[in-house]
Amino acid sequence: MHTSLECSLTGEFHEPDRLQGLSRAGKPLLARYDLGALSGWTPAIVRSRRERSMWKFHEVLPVNGLSEAVTLGEGLTPFLKCVERGVFAGFGDLWVKDEGFNPTQSFKARGMSAAMTRAAAFGVQTVALPSAGNAAGAATAYAARAGIRCVIFVPEDTPPANILESACGGAQVVLVNGLISDCGRLCRAACDRFGWFDLSTLKEPFRLEGKKTMGYELAFDLADARGTDQLQLPDVILYPTGGGTGLIGMWKAFDEMEQLGWIGSARPRMVVVQAEGCAPIVRAFEQGATSAPLFPNARTAASGLRVPAAVGDFLMLDILRRSGGTAITISDEELMQGVGELARFQGIHGAPEGGAVWRAAVRLRESGWLQPAETVVLFNTGAAVKYNHLLTCDDAVRLDHTDPEALVRLENCLSGTDFL
Ligand SMILES: *Cc1c(COP(=O)(O)O)cnc(C)c1O
Repeated sequence: MHTSLECSLTGEFHEPDRLQGLSRAGKPLLARYDLGALSGWTPAIVRSRRERSMWKFHEVLPVNGLSEAVTLGEGLTPFLKCVERGVFAGFGDLWVKDEGFNPTQSFKARGMSAAMTRAAAFGVQTVALPSAGNAAGAATAYAARAGIRCVIFVPEDTPPANILESACGGAQVVLVNGLISDCGRLCRAACDRFGWFDLSTLKEPFRLEGKKTMGYELAFDLADARGTDQLQLPDVILYPTGGGTGLIGMWKAFDEMEQLGWIGSARPRMVVVQAEGCAPIVRAFEQGATSAPLFPNARTAASGLRVPAAVGDFLMLDILRRSGGTAITISDEELMQGVGELARFQGIHGAPEGGAVWRAAVRLRESGWLQPAETVVLFNTGAAVKYNHLLTCDDAVRLDHTDPEALVRLENCLSGTDFL
């Protein structure tokens, strides 16, 4: 259980024993733990636990014990070494952390599990949030689990899978003719007026805490993969960035692990990957700025990346610079190419956001920024099933099962391909 909530800008102390949104300075609050008192808590203890969710790390999550957790088994996602084949040749140590395996098929589950746990502990009856897609489904599921009502504000062109999932799960869906930033403003006003609790990412402290568990898991995953007890971090992490909650969360996890004595001071180079049509952080990074203005006319099929303004902008930019990282954009066409390549060469049916980070790795490899021997982790943050509206099936063969010549026709269709 955390012992304070600290303003991420000013460091000012905020009481941990009440519902908190943004800090008094209007910035995200960071949960702080008495890590010194956790000296008996070791990686070996975590490894020995029977708990099959991110709540294995409950000492650094907002609970007094496991029984408080609102959980659907989130976290502990597959950590897969890429097969060096086809376009994936030339990457010596490339890994995918496949977050599409979470409940509701995205890593939003981690954040919602932690945030809903805390909201339930405070007796919140109704939460509201804006969503670009996956947050809506995750919030719906965890609210259902906690017995909390949920209102989601989504752009009207949000992928149907996300909207239907929320409707099916009993959330009140509000369709807005704008972007997620417009949804966020409406949501905030509705919360003020109706007394709902605003679950916008980074505007309450605990979605970050849930997502930070990716940082902890990565250190265990890599150690397991290398067959050692000593926790390890990769050289580079590529992260598809919208609000940046996962990036900021992982960085926080690394700091906590260092204070726990679990790892040293070395850090991965962190890479922000955004879509060409919505790249506020990339733009700000390139300009050497410490904050990112609203990106105009934000547009991308990777709905998780369609975040034109992020309240954690200054934190992300600081992490990029301190880690020696970089920031890169990928076009929508190329990120969908990436989805196909991950599926065809690795068997990973990932989200467009995952396609984007894979293509970013290709670009950074080509430019020499990534070295062949480096350990590189790609975050596939969701599953392709939520994005069926973007996929096509152009080269299907149609057969009549009553046609005696059906296989001749099939043979003709496939001649010249490597299926025959
Ligand atoms: C929300 C989302 C993102 C962006 O996550 P942040 O941590 O807020 O930057 C990336 N990919 C997918 C699939 C998402 O749903």
